[in-house]
Amino acid sequence: MIELEVVIGLEVHVQLATESKIFCSCPNLFGQPPNSLVCPVCMGLPGVLPVLNKKAVELALRAALALNCRIKEEIIFERKNYFYPDLPKNYQISQYSNPLGEEGFLTIGSKKIRIKRVHLEEDAGKLIHKEKYSLVDLNRAGVPLIEIVSYPDISSAQEAQDYLKELKLILQYIGVSTCDMEKGFLRCDANISLREKGSSILGTKTELKNMNSFNQVRQALEYEIKRQKNSILQGEKIIQETRLWDDNKKITLTMRTKEEAHDYRYFPEPDLVSFVISKQEVDKQKALIKELPSQKRKRFKENYSLNDKEIEVIISESGLSNFFEETLKYYNYPKKVCNWITGPLLEVLNNKRMSIEEIKLRAINFAELIKMVESRKITNLVAKELLGELIKYDQNPQTLAEERNLLSISEKSELLGLVREAIEENPRAVEDFLRGKDKAIMFLVGWVMRKTRGKANPHILKELIERQIKEEK
Ligand SMILES: [Zn+2]
Repeated sequence: MIELEVVIGLEVHVQLATESKIFCSCPNLFGQPPNSLVCPVCMGLPGVLPVLNKKAVELALRAALALNCRIKEEIIFERKNYFYPDLPKNYQISQYSNPLGEEGFLTIGSKKIRIKRVHLEEDAGKLIHKEKYSLVDLNRAGVPLIEIVSYPDISSAQEAQDYLKELKLILQYIGVSTCDMEKGFLRCDANISLREKGSSILGTKTELKNMNSFNQVRQALEYEIKRQKNSILQGEKIIQETRLWDDNKKITLTMRTKEEAHDYRYFPEPDLVSFVISKQEVDKQKALIKELPSQKRKRFKENYSLNDKEIEVIISESGLSNFFEETLKYYNYPKKVCNWITGPLLEVLNNKRMSIEEIKLRAINFAELIKMVESRKITNLVAKELLGELIKYDQNPQTLAEERNLLSISEKSELLGLVREAIEENPRAVEDFLRGKDKAIMFLVGWVMRKTRGKANPHILKELIERQIKEEK
Protein backbone atom coordinates (compact mmCIF):
# COMPACT_ATOMS: atom_id res chain seq x y z
CA MET A 1 0.00 0.00 0.00
CA ILE A 2 1.32 3.45 -0.83
CA GLU A 3 1.90 5.87 1.99
CA LEU A 4 0.41 9.31 1.37
CA GLU A 5 1.37 12.66 2.80
CA VAL A 6 -0.76 15.75 3.14
CA VAL A 7 0.21 19.07 1.54
CA ILE A 8 -1.69 22.18 2.57
CA GLY A 9 -1.27 25.83 1.65
CA LEU A 10 -3.45 28.59 3.06
CA GLU A 11 -4.70 31.84 1.58
CA VAL A 12 -5.90 34.25 4.20
CA HIS A 13 -7.73 37.51 3.60
CA VAL A 14 -7.60 40.03 6.41
CA GLN A 15 -9.52 43.27 6.60
CA LEU A 16 -7.28 46.16 7.61
CA ALA A 17 -8.27 48.38 10.52
CA THR A 18 -8.37 51.65 8.56
CA GLU A 19 -10.96 54.35 9.07
CA SER A 20 -11.86 54.62 5.39
CA LYS A 21 -11.87 52.37 2.34
CA ILE A 22 -8.80 51.76 0.23
CA PHE A 23 -9.58 53.96 -2.81
CA CYS A 24 -12.26 56.38 -1.58
CA SER A 25 -13.18 58.18 1.64
CA CYS A 26 -16.22 56.05 2.53
CA PRO A 27 -16.01 54.83 6.13
CA ASN A 28 -14.73 51.32 6.79
CA LEU A 29 -17.41 50.22 9.25
CA PHE A 30 -19.20 46.98 9.99
CA GLY A 31 -22.90 46.39 10.54
CA GLN A 32 -24.32 49.52 8.91
CA PRO A 33 -27.55 49.59 6.83
CA PRO A 34 -26.98 48.07 3.35
CA ASN A 35 -25.48 50.41 0.76
CA SER A 36 -25.16 53.28 3.24
CA LEU A 37 -21.36 53.45 2.97
CA VAL A 38 -20.95 53.90 -0.75
CA CYS A 39 -19.88 56.53 -3.26
CA PRO A 40 -19.34 56.63 -7.04
CA VAL A 41 -15.79 55.25 -6.62
CA CYS A 42 -16.62 52.10 -4.68
CA MET A 43 -19.81 51.60 -6.73
CA GLY A 44 -17.67 51.61 -9.87
CA LEU A 45 -19.56 54.37 -11.68
CA PRO A 46 -18.01 55.47 -14.99
CA GLY A 47 -15.36 58.17 -14.94
CA VAL A 48 -14.26 57.86 -11.31
CA LEU A 49 -10.66 57.56 -10.21
CA PRO A 50 -9.24 55.69 -7.22
CA VAL A 51 -7.02 57.45 -4.67
CA LEU A 52 -4.88 55.16 -2.55
CA ASN A 53 -5.35 55.22 1.25
CA LYS A 54 -1.95 55.80 2.88
CA LYS A 55 -2.96 54.07 6.12
CA ALA A 56 -3.83 50.88 4.24
CA VAL A 57 -0.32 50.76 2.77
CA GLU A 58 1.22 51.38 6.19
CA LEU A 59 -0.74 48.57 7.84
CA ALA A 60 -0.03 46.16 5.00
CA LEU A 61 3.65 47.04 5.22
CA ARG A 62 3.67 46.46 8.98
CA ALA A 63 2.02 43.06 8.50
CA ALA A 64 4.52 42.04 5.81
CA LEU A 65 7.41 43.05 8.07
CA ALA A 66 6.00 41.16 11.07
CA LEU A 67 5.77 38.10 8.82
CA ASN A 68 9.45 38.44 7.95
CA CYS A 69 8.79 39.32 4.32
CA ARG A 70 11.13 40.99 1.89
CA ILE A 71 9.56 44.33 0.97
CA LYS A 72 9.13 45.31 -2.65
CA GLU A 73 10.17 48.92 -3.00
CA GLU A 74 7.82 49.69 -5.82
CA ILE A 75 4.11 49.26 -5.33
CA ILE A 76 2.19 48.38 -8.46
CA PHE A 77 -1.50 47.60 -8.57
CA GLU A 78 -3.09 45.36 -11.15
CA ARG A 79 -6.60 44.63 -12.31
CA LYS A 80 -7.98 41.20 -11.72
CA ASN A 81 -10.80 40.90 -14.20
CA TYR A 82 -13.86 38.83 -13.53
CA PHE A 83 -17.59 39.35 -13.54
CA TYR A 84 -19.66 38.82 -10.44
CA PRO A 85 -22.67 40.79 -9.20
CA ASP A 86 -20.90 41.87 -6.00
CA LEU A 87 -18.08 43.47 -8.02
CA PRO A 88 -19.49 46.58 -9.70
CA LYS A 89 -16.34 47.51 -11.66
CA ASN A 90 -16.05 43.99 -13.11
CA TYR A 91 -12.49 43.97 -11.89
CA GLN A 92 -10.80 43.99 -8.53
CA ILE A 93 -7.79 46.21 -7.91
CA SER A 94 -5.17 43.86 -6.52
CA GLN A 95 -1.48 43.11 -6.75
CA TYR A 96 -0.18 40.25 -8.83
CA SER A 97 3.30 40.40 -10.28
CA ASN A 98 4.57 42.80 -7.62
CA PRO A 99 3.22 41.92 -4.18
CA LEU A 100 4.14 44.25 -1.33
CA GLY A 101 5.89 41.49 0.63
CA GLU A 102 7.49 38.23 -0.45
CA GLU A 103 9.32 35.24 0.98
CA GLY A 104 8.47 35.57 4.64
CA PHE A 105 7.72 32.97 7.26
CA LEU A 106 5.87 32.27 10.46
CA THR A 107 6.88 29.79 13.14
CA ILE A 108 4.55 27.40 14.91
CA GLY A 109 6.21 25.44 17.66
CA SER A 110 9.52 24.52 16.06
CA LYS A 111 8.23 24.44 12.49
CA LYS A 112 8.71 27.23 10.02
CA ILE A 113 5.87 27.80 7.56
CA ARG A 114 7.07 29.87 4.63
CA ILE A 115 4.96 32.73 3.38
CA LYS A 116 4.98 33.25 -0.35
CA ARG A 117 3.43 36.68 -0.53
CA VAL A 118 1.51 39.42 1.23
CA HIS A 119 -0.38 41.77 -1.04
CA LEU A 120 -2.90 44.59 -0.84
CA GLU A 121 -6.27 44.54 -2.53
CA GLU A 122 -9.83 45.77 -2.27
CA ASP A 123 -12.73 43.70 -1.01
CA ALA A 124 -15.86 43.02 -3.05
CA GLY A 125 -19.43 43.64 -1.89
CA LYS A 126 -21.67 41.04 -0.37
CA LEU A 127 -24.56 39.11 -1.86
CA ILE A 128 -27.53 38.29 0.30
CA HIS A 129 -29.43 35.37 -1.15
CA LYS A 130 -33.20 35.25 -0.72
CA GLU A 131 -35.44 32.46 -1.89
CA LYS A 132 -36.24 33.84 -5.34
CA TYR A 133 -33.72 36.63 -5.77
CA SER A 134 -30.45 37.99 -4.42
CA LEU A 135 -29.60 41.40 -3.02
CA VAL A 136 -26.27 43.17 -3.13
CA ASP A 137 -24.75 45.26 -0.36
CA LEU A 138 -21.75 47.30 -1.49
CA ASN A 139 -20.73 48.60 1.95
CA ARG A 140 -17.81 46.19 1.91
CA ALA A 141 -16.76 46.98 -1.68
CA GLY A 142 -13.43 48.79 -1.53
CA VAL A 143 -12.58 47.85 2.03
CA PRO A 144 -8.80 47.29 2.25
CA LEU A 145 -7.59 43.71 2.56
CA ILE A 146 -4.29 41.98 2.70
CA GLU A 147 -4.00 38.52 1.27
CA ILE A 148 -1.42 36.30 2.91
CA VAL A 149 -0.45 33.24 0.91
CA SER A 150 1.58 30.47 2.49
CA TYR A 151 3.73 27.94 0.70
CA PRO A 152 2.33 24.39 0.84
CA ASP A 153 4.42 23.69 3.94
CA ILE A 154 1.54 22.64 6.19
CA SER A 155 1.16 18.91 6.63
CA SER A 156 -1.94 18.36 8.75
CA ALA A 157 -5.31 19.88 9.57
CA GLN A 158 -4.12 20.62 13.09
CA GLU A 159 -1.05 22.41 11.78
CA ALA A 160 -3.28 24.53 9.56
CA GLN A 161 -5.29 25.55 12.59
CA ASP A 162 -2.14 26.36 14.56
CA TYR A 163 -0.83 28.47 11.69
CA LEU A 164 -4.07 30.45 11.52
CA LYS A 165 -4.14 31.03 15.26
CA GLU A 166 -0.59 32.33 15.26
CA LEU A 167 -1.20 34.51 12.21
CA LYS A 168 -4.28 36.02 13.82
CA LEU A 169 -2.40 36.67 17.04
CA ILE A 170 0.46 38.42 15.22
CA LEU A 171 -1.90 40.67 13.25
CA GLN A 172 -3.83 41.55 16.38
CA TYR A 173 -0.64 42.28 18.32
CA ILE A 174 0.64 44.71 15.71
CA GLY A 175 -2.72 46.48 15.41
CA VAL A 176 -3.27 45.65 11.75
CA SER A 177 -6.67 44.02 12.17
CA THR A 178 -9.03 42.82 14.85
CA CYS A 179 -9.27 39.59 12.80
CA ASP A 180 -12.84 39.12 13.99
CA MET A 181 -13.87 35.99 12.08
CA GLU A 182 -17.56 36.32 12.90
CA LYS A 183 -17.55 39.62 11.05
CA GLY A 184 -15.54 38.17 8.18
CA PHE A 185 -12.46 40.25 9.01
CA LEU A 186 -10.35 37.14 8.62
CA ARG A 187 -11.27 34.63 5.90
CA CYS A 188 -9.37 31.53 4.94
CA ASP A 189 -9.21 29.37 1.83
CA ALA A 190 -7.18 26.19 1.84
CA ASN A 191 -5.42 24.34 -0.96
CA ILE A 192 -4.96 20.69 -0.26
CA SER A 193 -3.48 17.75 -2.07
CA LEU A 194 -1.97 14.39 -1.26
CA ARG A 195 1.14 12.82 -2.67
CA GLU A 196 3.19 9.73 -2.21
CA LYS A 197 5.41 10.17 0.79
CA GLY A 198 8.85 11.45 -0.15
CA SER A 199 7.77 12.54 -3.62
CA SER A 200 8.66 16.05 -4.70
CA ILE A 201 5.83 16.35 -7.21
CA LEU A 202 2.63 17.93 -5.92
CA GLY A 203 -0.61 16.04 -6.38
CA THR A 204 -3.75 17.60 -7.87
CA LYS A 205 -5.16 20.05 -5.36
CA THR A 206 -8.63 21.14 -4.43
CA GLU A 207 -9.39 24.54 -2.99
CA LEU A 208 -11.66 24.71 0.04
CA LYS A 209 -13.83 27.73 0.74
CA ASN A 210 -16.60 28.85 3.05
CA MET A 211 -15.03 27.98 6.38
CA ASN A 212 -16.02 30.48 9.02
CA SER A 213 -14.00 29.46 12.03
CA PHE A 214 -10.67 27.82 12.74
CA ASN A 215 -12.56 24.71 13.82
CA GLN A 216 -14.35 24.58 10.50
CA VAL A 217 -11.02 24.90 8.69
CA ARG A 218 -9.72 21.92 10.61
CA GLN A 219 -12.87 19.86 10.07
CA ALA A 220 -13.03 20.68 6.34
CA LEU A 221 -9.39 19.70 5.89
CA GLU A 222 -9.83 16.49 7.85
CA TYR A 223 -12.81 15.60 5.67
CA GLU A 224 -10.98 16.48 2.48
CA ILE A 225 -7.90 14.47 3.47
CA LYS A 226 -10.10 11.40 3.94
CA ARG A 227 -12.01 11.99 0.72
CA GLN A 228 -8.87 12.40 -1.39
CA LYS A 229 -7.17 9.46 0.29
CA ASN A 230 -10.12 7.19 -0.52
CA SER A 231 -10.23 8.38 -4.13
CA ILE A 232 -6.52 7.82 -4.64
CA LEU A 233 -6.54 4.40 -3.01
CA GLN A 234 -9.43 3.39 -5.28
CA GLY A 235 -7.45 4.53 -8.29
CA GLU A 236 -9.65 7.52 -9.05
CA LYS A 237 -8.33 10.84 -10.30
CA ILE A 238 -8.58 13.95 -8.13
CA ILE A 239 -10.22 16.79 -10.06
CA GLN A 240 -8.79 20.28 -9.61
CA GLU A 241 -11.77 22.21 -8.33
CA THR A 242 -13.11 24.57 -5.72
CA ARG A 243 -15.14 22.87 -3.00
CA LEU A 244 -17.40 24.44 -0.41
CA TRP A 245 -17.55 23.36 3.21
CA ASP A 246 -21.09 22.54 4.29
CA ASP A 247 -20.99 23.07 8.02
CA ASN A 248 -24.37 21.46 8.65
CA LYS A 249 -23.56 18.23 6.85
CA LYS A 250 -19.85 18.42 7.72
CA ILE A 251 -18.80 17.63 4.15
CA THR A 252 -17.18 19.46 1.22
CA LEU A 253 -19.11 19.85 -2.05
CA THR A 254 -18.06 20.73 -5.59
CA MET A 255 -18.55 24.43 -6.35
CA ARG A 256 -16.76 24.95 -9.65
CA THR A 257 -13.75 23.70 -11.50
CA LYS A 258 -10.83 25.93 -10.74
CA GLU A 259 -9.85 28.95 -12.82
CA GLU A 260 -6.21 29.46 -13.68
CA ALA A 261 -4.51 32.80 -13.06
CA HIS A 262 -4.57 33.60 -16.78
CA ASP A 263 -8.37 33.50 -16.70
CA TYR A 264 -8.26 36.76 -14.76
CA ARG A 265 -6.34 38.66 -17.45
CA TYR A 266 -4.30 40.66 -14.99
CA PHE A 267 -2.86 43.92 -16.28
CA PRO A 268 -1.40 47.02 -14.57
CA GLU A 269 -4.04 49.36 -13.12
CA PRO A 270 -3.83 52.44 -15.38
CA ASP A 271 -5.64 54.71 -12.90
CA LEU A 272 -3.02 54.38 -10.16
CA VAL A 273 0.57 55.45 -10.51
CA SER A 274 3.22 53.15 -9.12
CA PHE A 275 5.06 54.52 -6.12
CA VAL A 276 8.07 53.77 -4.02
CA ILE A 277 8.09 52.81 -0.35
CA SER A 278 10.86 54.77 1.31
CA LYS A 279 13.36 53.26 3.74
CA GLN A 280 12.11 55.72 6.39
CA GLU A 281 8.60 54.33 6.01
CA VAL A 282 9.88 50.78 6.40
CA ASP A 283 11.83 51.77 9.52
CA LYS A 284 8.84 53.57 10.93
CA GLN A 285 6.61 50.52 10.56
CA LYS A 286 9.33 48.24 11.95
CA ALA A 287 9.51 50.41 15.03
CA LEU A 288 5.76 50.10 15.51
CA ILE A 289 6.07 46.33 15.81
CA LYS A 290 6.65 45.98 19.53
CA GLU A 291 6.56 42.54 21.08
CA LEU A 292 5.34 39.71 18.86
CA PRO A 293 3.46 36.75 20.38
CA SER A 294 6.47 34.45 20.02
CA GLN A 295 8.63 36.93 21.94
CA LYS A 296 6.02 37.37 24.63
CA ARG A 297 5.65 33.59 24.96
CA LYS A 298 9.39 33.29 25.53
CA ARG A 299 9.57 36.16 27.98
CA PHE A 300 6.61 34.91 30.02
CA LYS A 301 8.13 31.45 30.19
CA GLU A 302 11.43 32.79 31.45
CA ASN A 303 10.07 35.39 33.86
CA TYR A 304 6.96 33.88 35.32
CA SER A 305 7.49 30.09 35.23
CA LEU A 306 3.99 29.44 33.94
CA ASN A 307 3.29 26.27 31.98
CA ASP A 308 2.67 26.32 28.22
CA LYS A 309 -1.08 26.02 28.53
CA GLU A 310 -1.31 28.93 30.95
CA ILE A 311 0.93 31.06 28.76
CA GLU A 312 -1.22 30.39 25.68
CA VAL A 313 -4.37 31.57 27.47
CA ILE A 314 -2.71 34.65 28.91
CA ILE A 315 -1.08 35.76 25.65
CA SER A 316 -4.11 34.89 23.49
CA GLU A 317 -5.25 38.49 23.88
CA SER A 318 -2.86 41.32 24.38
CA GLY A 319 -5.38 42.88 26.81
CA LEU A 320 -5.18 39.84 29.06
CA SER A 321 -1.40 39.72 29.19
CA ASN A 322 -1.22 43.46 29.87
CA PHE A 323 -3.69 43.12 32.74
CA PHE A 324 -1.69 40.17 34.07
CA GLU A 325 1.56 42.13 34.13
CA GLU A 326 -0.12 45.21 35.55
CA THR A 327 -1.57 43.13 38.41
CA LEU A 328 1.87 41.70 39.19
CA LYS A 329 3.02 45.21 40.06
CA TYR A 330 0.74 45.07 43.11
CA TYR A 331 0.84 41.39 43.88
CA ASN A 332 3.91 39.64 42.59
CA TYR A 333 2.76 36.03 42.52
CA PRO A 334 2.55 35.16 38.79
CA LYS A 335 1.06 31.71 39.21
CA LYS A 336 -1.71 32.93 41.50
CA VAL A 337 -2.52 35.96 39.38
CA CYS A 338 -2.55 33.77 36.27
CA ASN A 339 -4.98 31.35 37.93
CA TRP A 340 -7.24 34.22 38.90
CA ILE A 341 -7.25 35.60 35.38
CA THR A 342 -7.66 32.33 33.49
CA GLY A 343 -10.18 31.07 36.07
CA PRO A 344 -12.63 33.43 37.79
CA LEU A 345 -11.97 36.55 35.71
CA LEU A 346 -12.44 34.87 32.33
CA GLU A 347 -15.46 33.01 33.68
CA VAL A 348 -17.11 36.24 34.79
CA LEU A 349 -16.21 37.94 31.50
CA ASN A 350 -17.72 35.07 29.51
CA ASN A 351 -20.88 35.11 31.57
CA LYS A 352 -21.30 38.83 31.09
CA ARG A 353 -20.18 38.64 27.44
CA MET A 354 -17.55 41.28 28.03
CA SER A 355 -14.04 41.54 26.71
CA ILE A 356 -11.01 42.39 28.83
CA GLU A 357 -10.86 45.78 27.06
CA GLU A 358 -14.29 46.67 28.40
CA ILE A 359 -13.67 46.10 32.09
CA LYS A 360 -13.46 49.02 34.47
CA LEU A 361 -11.59 47.11 37.18
CA ARG A 362 -8.05 48.40 37.67
CA ALA A 363 -5.19 46.01 38.29
CA ILE A 364 -4.54 47.49 41.72
CA ASN A 365 -8.02 46.50 42.90
CA PHE A 366 -7.87 43.12 41.23
CA ALA A 367 -4.66 42.49 43.15
CA GLU A 368 -6.39 43.63 46.32
CA LEU A 369 -9.21 41.16 45.74
CA ILE A 370 -6.76 38.28 45.37
CA LYS A 371 -4.95 39.37 48.54
CA MET A 372 -8.23 39.37 50.45
CA VAL A 373 -8.92 35.78 49.46
CA GLU A 374 -5.36 34.74 50.27
CA SER A 375 -5.61 36.26 53.74
CA ARG A 376 -9.04 34.64 54.13
CA LYS A 377 -10.83 37.93 54.57
CA ILE A 378 -13.32 36.80 51.98
CA THR A 379 -14.14 33.39 50.57
CA ASN A 380 -13.63 32.35 46.94
CA LEU A 381 -17.36 32.42 46.47
CA VAL A 382 -17.67 35.98 47.68
CA ALA A 383 -14.68 37.03 45.58
CA LYS A 384 -16.38 35.79 42.43
CA GLU A 385 -19.54 37.65 43.35
CA LEU A 386 -17.57 40.86 43.93
CA LEU A 387 -15.66 40.39 40.71
CA GLY A 388 -18.92 40.50 38.77
CA GLU A 389 -19.48 44.01 40.08
CA LEU A 390 -15.91 45.24 40.09
CA ILE A 391 -15.49 44.68 36.37
CA LYS A 392 -18.34 47.11 35.79
CA TYR A 393 -17.56 49.71 38.47
CA ASP A 394 -14.01 49.77 39.67
CA GLN A 395 -13.71 50.25 43.42
CA ASN A 396 -11.78 49.05 46.39
CA PRO A 397 -12.92 45.46 47.05
CA GLN A 398 -12.33 45.84 50.80
CA THR A 399 -14.80 48.75 50.95
CA LEU A 400 -17.27 46.92 48.77
CA ALA A 401 -17.12 43.77 50.89
CA GLU A 402 -17.64 45.82 54.06
CA GLU A 403 -20.57 47.70 52.57
CA ARG A 404 -22.22 44.48 51.54
CA ASN A 405 -21.37 42.80 54.82
CA LEU A 406 -19.55 40.06 52.92
CA LEU A 407 -16.36 39.77 54.94
CA SER A 408 -15.71 36.20 56.03
CA ILE A 409 -17.14 35.02 59.25
CA SER A 410 -14.19 33.38 60.89
CA GLU A 411 -15.03 34.36 64.44
CA LYS A 412 -15.67 30.94 65.87
CA SER A 413 -18.23 32.20 68.35
CA GLU A 414 -20.28 33.67 65.52
CA LEU A 415 -20.26 30.37 63.65
CA LEU A 416 -20.78 28.05 66.56
CA GLY A 417 -24.53 28.67 66.80
CA LEU A 418 -24.96 27.76 63.14
CA VAL A 419 -22.75 24.71 63.52
CA ARG A 420 -24.91 23.40 66.34
CA GLU A 421 -27.99 24.04 64.25
CA ALA A 422 -26.47 22.17 61.30
CA ILE A 423 -25.75 19.15 63.46
CA GLU A 424 -29.21 19.16 64.94
CA GLU A 425 -30.99 19.51 61.62
CA ASN A 426 -28.96 16.92 59.73
CA PRO A 427 -28.68 13.77 61.83
CA ARG A 428 -28.17 11.54 58.77
CA ALA A 429 -25.09 13.44 57.67
CA VAL A 430 -23.70 13.36 61.20
CA GLU A 431 -24.22 9.63 61.37
CA ASP A 432 -22.57 9.13 57.98
CA PHE A 433 -19.61 11.14 59.15
CA LEU A 434 -19.29 9.09 62.31
CA ARG A 435 -19.37 5.94 60.19
CA GLY A 436 -16.31 7.25 58.40
CA LYS A 437 -17.85 8.93 55.37
CA ASP A 438 -15.67 12.00 55.10
CA LYS A 439 -17.84 13.48 52.37
CA ALA A 440 -20.68 13.94 54.84
CA ILE A 441 -18.78 16.73 56.51
CA MET A 442 -18.83 18.73 53.31
CA PHE A 443 -22.59 18.48 53.24
CA LEU A 444 -22.68 20.13 56.65
CA VAL A 445 -20.15 22.76 55.58
CA GLY A 446 -22.36 23.54 52.58
CA TRP A 447 -25.41 23.83 54.82
CA VAL A 448 -23.78 26.49 56.99
CA MET A 449 -22.33 28.20 53.91
CA ARG A 450 -25.81 28.70 52.48
CA LYS A 451 -27.00 30.17 55.78
CA THR A 452 -24.14 32.68 55.72
CA ARG A 453 -24.50 33.45 52.01
CA GLY A 454 -21.04 32.08 51.39
CA LYS A 455 -19.30 34.23 53.95
CA ALA A 456 -18.15 31.50 56.31
CA ASN A 457 -14.52 30.57 56.11
CA PRO A 458 -14.74 26.96 54.91
CA HIS A 459 -11.48 25.84 56.54
CA ILE A 460 -12.44 27.06 59.97
CA LEU A 461 -15.96 25.84 59.48
CA LYS A 462 -14.88 22.31 58.69
CA GLU A 463 -12.68 22.16 61.76
CA LEU A 464 -15.43 23.54 63.91
CA ILE A 465 -18.04 21.04 62.73
CA GLU A 466 -15.71 18.08 63.20
CA ARG A 467 -14.82 19.15 66.70
CA GLN A 468 -18.42 19.85 67.63
CA ILE A 469 -19.66 16.45 66.44
CA LYS A 470 -16.94 14.69 68.41
CA GLU A 471 -17.76 16.73 71.51
CA GLU A 472 -21.45 15.96 71.31
CA LYS A 473 -21.06 12.24 70.78
ZN1 LIG B 1 -16.74 54.90 -1.61
